[in-house]
Amino acid sequence: MEISAALVIVQKYGGTSVGTVDRIRNVARRVLATQRKGHDVVVVVSAMSGETNRLLGLAQQISPIPDERELDVVASTGEQVTVGLMALAIHAEGGKATSLLGHQVRILTDSAFARARIQDIDVQAIRKAFAAQKIAVIAGFQGVDKDGNITTLGRGGSDTSAVAVAAALKADSCEIYTDVDGVYTADPNVVRNARKIDRISYEEMLELASLGAKVLQIRSVEFGMKYQVPIHVRSSFNDHEGTWVVPEEKAMEAVLVAGVTATRDEAKITLSGVPDRPGVQAEVLRPLAEAGIVVDVIVQAHIQNGRTNLTFTLPSADLARAKDILLKQCAGICPPEQLKSEENLSKVSVVGVGMRSHAGVALKMFEILAKENIHVHLISTSEIKISCVIEGKYAELAVRALHDGFGLAAGA
Ligand code: ADP
Ligand code: ASP
Ligand code: MG
Repeated sequence: MEISAALVIVQKYGGTSVGTVDRIRNVARRVLATQRKGHDVVVVVSAMSGETNRLLGLAQQISPIPDERELDVVASTGEQVTVGLMALAIHAEGGKATSLLGHQVRILTDSAFARARIQDIDVQAIRKAFAAQKIAVIAGFQGVDKDGNITTLGRGGSDTSAVAVAAALKADSCEIYTDVDGVYTADPNVVRNARKIDRISYEEMLELASLGAKVLQIRSVEFGMKYQVPIHVRSSFNDHEGTWVVPEEKAMEAVLVAGVTATRDEAKITLSGVPDRPGVQAEVLRPLAEAGIVVDVIVQAHIQNGRTNLTFTLPSADLARAKDILLKQCAGICPPEQLKSEENLSKVSVVGVGMRSHAGVALKMFEILAKENIHVHLISTSEIKISCVIEGKYAELAVRALHDGFGLAAGA
């Protein structure tokens, strides 16, 4: 007789994995198979693929800049449908399950609508489901604030719901089921010969997630790292071993570059002839920060006569608002004719903990981009990544060239 210890396992299924009724049935079978091995199972689900975009589109048709509280009420309904269908599918397969919305679990968040942060998770309802041999089917992406308002966690937020629930339960593992076999050296839908990574450190995954690899939402990796939850990213369409996101291991340093990624839809603002005096950068960036606009790469170039050029990147979606704010609030520092902007930019990055101990990665990156005749607008680095802002139309070419150039291709 095989005796295996009962584990607590959290499984998250993304939009494509629950995109049709047949796929929901497939997930129900997988979840039940796990439970039948004697484990306690929590399932966290996303909305069916395309649904969140559809819901946000409806709101947009009524109001171009919708009230974010109401937007969250609308956006969160996608997950409500999936948890109900998933519980029904588990019942239909002969299992027991109960659906739980964010406020029913009590996933408590702050009140930053559309980008709320999880503050606390009450595990009582989940434990009650376990005691009744039921699978807890939890709606991802949503929570509730202290005043009872529905909140959402930002795009891709179901990953964070799952890892946070796993942390609260001290689960043995958190499995993120998606439409690819794991985390690859580059987006496998862009780079055909990308290679699946078996184990990746939290740090590298944090960088990849924040630099465009949407396979995990960045906050889910932050939670995983903080609470040491082993995250297993894998496919819902087969049983292959996927990628484990784990604490850094010695062997990881041997790999110079773990992955290549790109963000799209970046914009750049340059203010020229800004008076070069202490505090001037804060004067420019303060009104933008107050408006919730996140600026990214910041470069200041020293020029003559006590004046300097200040350049920074920001999401394209915020460009019009940012320019408006700067023209209204910073006209004294920078008259309108000295404000220039550019859109359709992309930030390509190479990431790897091996960079800490190896020289020459930046040089190699510039050589590879130069060979493709790609002009680099801005550069930013951290201990384990190098990013170059380039013209958006070259993003895929750059990712492929860097992927090949750093020898990441499968079989290379
Ligand atoms: P889900 O709906 O399951 O949450 P997502 O679409 O959010 O799935 O994330 C999976 C997608 O992430 C993949 O289909 C892939 O195109 C993309 N992706 C981007 N970079 C990577 C990478 N380095 N490794 C794996 N997938 C990646
Ligand atoms: N349904 C949400 C989205 O599309 C959350 C998620 O899929 O993780 O962003
Ligand atoms: Mg996702």
